[in-house]
Amino acid sequence: MPHRPSGFVDDKRLWDRLMMLAQFGAREDGGVDRPALSPTESDARAQLVAWGRALGLHPFSDAMANLFLRLEGRRPELPPVLIGSHIDSQPTGGKFDGAFGVLAGLEAVEAIIASGQRPDRSIEVVAWTNEEGSRFAPGMAGSEAFTGAKPLEILHAAKDAAGCSAGAAVAEVLAKDVDVPQRAFGWAPAAFVEPHIEQGPILEKRNITIGVVTGIQGTRRYRVRVSGEAAHAGTTLRRDRRDALMAAVRIIHAIDRVAREPDDVMLTVGLFEVKPNAPSVIPEEVYFSIDLRHTDDAVVDRIDAEIRRLVEAEKGPCAVELRQIAHAPSLTFSDEVRSLVARAADDLSLPSMDIYSAAGHDARQLHYVCPTGMIFVPCRGGISHNPAEWAEPAHVAAGARVLADVAWALAARGD
Ligand SMILES: [Zn+2]
Repeated sequence: MPHRPSGFVDDKRLWDRLMMLAQFGAREDGGVDRPALSPTESDARAQLVAWGRALGLHPFSDAMANLFLRLEGRRPELPPVLIGSHIDSQPTGGKFDGAFGVLAGLEAVEAIIASGQRPDRSIEVVAWTNEEGSRFAPGMAGSEAFTGAKPLEILHAAKDAAGCSAGAAVAEVLAKDVDVPQRAFGWAPAAFVEPHIEQGPILEKRNITIGVVTGIQGTRRYRVRVSGEAAHAGTTLRRDRRDALMAAVRIIHAIDRVAREPDDVMLTVGLFEVKPNAPSVIPEEVYFSIDLRHTDDAVVDRIDAEIRRLVEAEKGPCAVELRQIAHAPSLTFSDEVRSLVARAADDLSLPSMDIYSAAGHDARQLHYVCPTGMIFVPCRGGISHNPAEWAEPAHVAAGARVLADVAWALAARGD
């Protein structure tokens, strides 16, 4: 009976690497600011390559600057198992979002090597480019390029606030790579497993160490423009006004009411702009966002229809334009990966539970090309995208142990 690789996970080594990676883009408040494809991220990437090479892993990249660190299997001709996440962060990011998944991947591979065994299939630690979408919107660009979900030209054309294109930033990052061969897109991995902090409060509240992620909830995003007419606040009778702000408030209030049922519908108006935004001028234009999420597509569809009806019903004398800018259906991860994660947790006597992912991840894109799953670990107070983001060292190590055994099992899969 061979030793399970989880027995060779080194808690301190993993934790030290997490703290070291957090130095790239470290903020004074303890957080991390590491924009996608920035010099800071490029330096962190070079550190990953150095760690990988020290273990004998072979680095590869591609035309979106995704990074792969390959542990060659006994049957290198078979598609590899991919494990990892991303290393870019929000401007007010923490030390664990993304970085935990990549470094748990590296630790899992190091544990397999330390166990003295070699996997059948190759195993590759992956860091997907631009998951966050805060410098170049939208996010998940690396996994979208890899899976062919979006054409590379469109992903390269995205511009940051300074006018730099993602394509130019990719070229800069790749130019700094030393002896990192580039691979073409268009191949499917044998499987993908993404470890991640939960970014929600459920595991911590229930004292559960491992979340067996069942799927990702569906999302729709909209932009709404309400157009009225600017006029004098002191001379224009209420009945003669076309007040864009009053119309927007009615619309948002009505949408908020229909989105109360069921009580786990996520509805957010996070962006709101008023023009001209002057105290004595009746607002002529309001521009706002709607972010709608739920695990059941039927619920999302029903509220979508209500949103479309209510913007018309509540617009009054104003004109309204509703644009849907994103639609991602809810999805259910591979049964095989889910049961491997649950079994690995059981074998390690780690408490686990099924849990839905409320946030999007690169695993969403990979789900459509290969058996995919995620492993969640708790994070303090459910806080993420925040310098206060925190995960306990024991939970981080537990996630890496489960990953090591799951990756090992997946690498033994037949053709
Ligand atoms: Zn993330």
